[in-house]
Amino acid sequence: EKDLKSKIIEINTEAAKYYHYLLRSDRGKTAYHYLKGRELSDETIVKFGLGYSDKYSNNLYQYLRSKGYNDTELKETGLFTFDEVRGVNDKFWNRVMFPIMDANNRVIAFGGRVMGDGKPKYLNSPETKVFDKSRNLYGLNVARSARKDYMLICEGYMDVISLHQAGFNNAVAALGTAFTSRHASLIKRYAKEAVLTFDSDEAGIKAALRAIPYLRESGLAIKVLNMKPYKDPDEFIKNMGREAYEERIKTATNFFIFQVDNERKNYDLNDPQEKTAFQNKVAEMLLVFKDELERENYIDSVCRTFNISKDGLSRLVKKKALNYV
Ligand code: ATP
Ligand code: MN
Ligand code: MN
Ligand code: MN
Repeated sequence: EKDLKSKIIEINTEAAKYYHYLLRSDRGKTAYHYLKGRELSDETIVKFGLGYSDKYSNNLYQYLRSKGYNDTELKETGLFTFDEVRGVNDKFWNRVMFPIMDANNRVIAFGGRVMGDGKPKYLNSPETKVFDKSRNLYGLNVARSARKDYMLICEGYMDVISLHQAGFNNAVAALGTAFTSRHASLIKRYAKEAVLTFDSDEAGIKAALRAIPYLRESGLAIKVLNMKPYKDPDEFIKNMGREAYEERIKTATNFFIFQVDNERKNYDLNDPQEKTAFQNKVAEMLLVFKDELERENYIDSVCRTFNISKDGLSRLVKKKALNYV
């Protein structure tokens, strides 16, 4: 079992080298220009070990066989499809390749992006004996040694890479999977605060709202960045530059204000009934703060931000707290 795991990592490492070599070769020209078009420097391409998977359907397989690996081992990597009729084929085909490293720099999986509008946009390695999506974060191998108090949590490969290229070397992403409590504890090992910098669309907001309770549980402080009017950190940085992003970090929203702000969208605050319902909802939400002083501070902050009467809300919270226990 332990031997098999290190064998899978060894094969993945060979595959990553192969993909990277292809990207640098004539066959990888289109892919290389794709990455250049996305404004990645050669230094960044090397740093993240980016690559290209060829159009020929089993050349990685042939290459690795020629290096002496057998089918049993190769099957375990998830990089190939074994079919009785069609034989063995590479899983990734004509894609830009992103090797996924664990915190110790070992290649545990791959993501591959189509160049252009094909579907699926990203294809990831399946889970294997060395790749558990819920236990790994893209970019953590670099971000852990940034030794900053906070980590930037984003959604995608290109977001992590763009942020790193712009000097934010503490960015990580949970890739194409829900953010779990394991991701949260992983971050807690290296940082005190999580700064969420998800996509600004509805899906990104939902993902942030779902991640917050896990991050809270692990004891991290949490702030939320708004990438509007751009779609995600990658596009934000490209259009606005690193100083503007730095400014967004400085003016980041406290997670609770973010939650309340999102809740507010469900109410028409011009209608007294709905306003009252909203205030009741906020009072309930405030019950997550068990410490009295902390709760006071949040009441203070919420009332200022959303123009709510402090006496009224305090009374409401006290009443709810009594019924709550
Ligand atoms: P790009 O900037 O290259 O278009 P993105 O990161 O902005 O990519 P999103 O659509 O915002 O792409 O998706 C965020 C992340 O979710 C991706 O980086 C990828 O890890 C994952 N993802 C997206 N689409 C898929 C898919 N079809 N299958 C699996 N994972 C996906
Ligand atoms: Mn998205
Ligand atoms: Mn993007
Ligand atoms: Mn995106």
